[in-house]
Amino acid sequence: VSDQMKRWFQGHELAAKLYHHVLTVSDEGREAREYLRKRGFTKEMIDKFQIGYAPNSWDFLSSFLDKRSFSAEEMSECGLLGLRDFDNKPYDRFRGRIMFPIWDRRGNMIAFGGRVISDGHPKYLNSPESEVFNKSDVLYFFHKARSVMRKKNEAVLFEGYVDVISAWRAGIENGVASLGTALTESQAKMIRRNADKIILCYDSDNAGLNATYKNAQILESIGAQVVIGKLPEGDDPHDYIQRHGADQFVHEVISQHITFMAFKFDYFRRGKNLQHEGDRLNYIDQILKEISQLNRAIERDYYLRQLAEEFSLSLEALKQEQSTLLQAQQ
Ligand code: ATP
Ligand code: MN
Ligand code: MN
Ligand code: MN
Repeated sequence: VSDQMKRWFQGHELAAKLYHHVLTVSDEGREAREYLRKRGFTKEMIDKFQIGYAPNSWDFLSSFLDKRSFSAEEMSECGLLGLRDFDNKPYDRFRGRIMFPIWDRRGNMIAFGGRVISDGHPKYLNSPESEVFNKSDVLYFFHKARSVMRKKNEAVLFEGYVDVISAWRAGIENGVASLGTALTESQAKMIRRNADKIILCYDSDNAGLNATYKNAQILESIGAQVVIGKLPEGDDPHDYIQRHGADQFVHEVISQHITFMAFKFDYFRRGKNLQHEGDRLNYIDQILKEISQLNRAIERDYYLRQLAEEFSLSLEALKQEQSTLLQAQQ
C-alpha cells in the first residue's frame, strides 16, 4: 500500500466521521435521522456501519478537508471531491444524502454510497471508480463478513447495503452485497473462496429475479452450492424484515431456503399462463432443459417426477420429450 493510498483511505475515514457526526448529533442531520428511524435503523446499526449524512452543501466536505490539509487534488483523485470544469475548484460530490462507507477486502475505506432521503434521482450515488475503488472487485461488508463465512462455510448474498445491514441486525453476519444486481466473476470467486454454500437473497422484483437466475449460474459454474432465499413478490430483505420481523426472516427465508431448481420452477412460470397450451408446453420444455443439466441422477429423477405429477404426464413421455430437446440442441 503506497503512502498515496493511505492518504486516500484517511480522507475517507475523516469524511465518514464527519458525516456520522452530522447524522447523529447535528441539527442538519435531523431529517435524515428521522428518515432512518422510520426505516427501522437503530443506533447500533448506524454506528456499526458508520452511516452518516452529507448536508446539502457544495463546500461542506471540501472546506473541512482543506482545513485538515488534504489537498483538493488528492481528494478528487480518489473520488471524494469533484473539480469544477471551468476553474478546477473543488466541490462536494455528495450533497443531501445518507452516506454508507464502502470498504475493500482489508477493511480500508475506499468509497461511499449515498442515498437520497425519500424520493429523488438517482436513488443511490456511488463514488466514481478510482485507483482504490474498482466496483467489480468490491463486495459490501466483505471485510467483516468473511470470517463468519469461513466459520459457517456459508455466505448470504444480497443486492443492496440496506439489506446487508438489516440482515446483520437480524443476526446474519455472513451477508455481503454486490452493489446492484450484476455479479462479476471476481466477486463470485471472493465469496466462493470462503464458503461452499451460498444463499442468494435478492429482491423479489423483475430485476432481482432475473439476476438471481443469472448469478446462481455464475456461482454454480465455480463450484458453489447455491440455494435461494425466497421472498414474497415485490419484497426485498429489508422490506421483509420491516414487515415481518427479524425472526421470521431468519426462519422463513434464510433457513427455509429453496434449491436453485425449485426456484426455476417458479421463475419460468413468470409471464406465462399455464392454462394456455402453448405457454404450458413452452414451460415444460424449459423445465426439462434445466432438469437435464442437473448433475445427479437422483435429482433429475426427483424433479422429473415433480413435473410429471404437476401436469399429469407420464414419466416416459417426459423422458422422450427431454431426449428430443437435447438432440435438437446438438
Ligand atoms: P432502499 O431500500 O434504500 O430503497 P434498495 O437497496 O432496496 O434501497 P434497490 O432499488 O433495490 O435499492 O437497488 C438495489 C441496490 O442497487 C442498491 O442497494 C444499490 O447498491 C444499487 N443501486 C440502486 N440504484 C442505484 C443507482 N441509481 N446507482 C447505483 N447503484 C444503485
Ligand atoms: Mn430492487
Ligand atoms: Mn432493494
Ligand atoms: Mn430496499
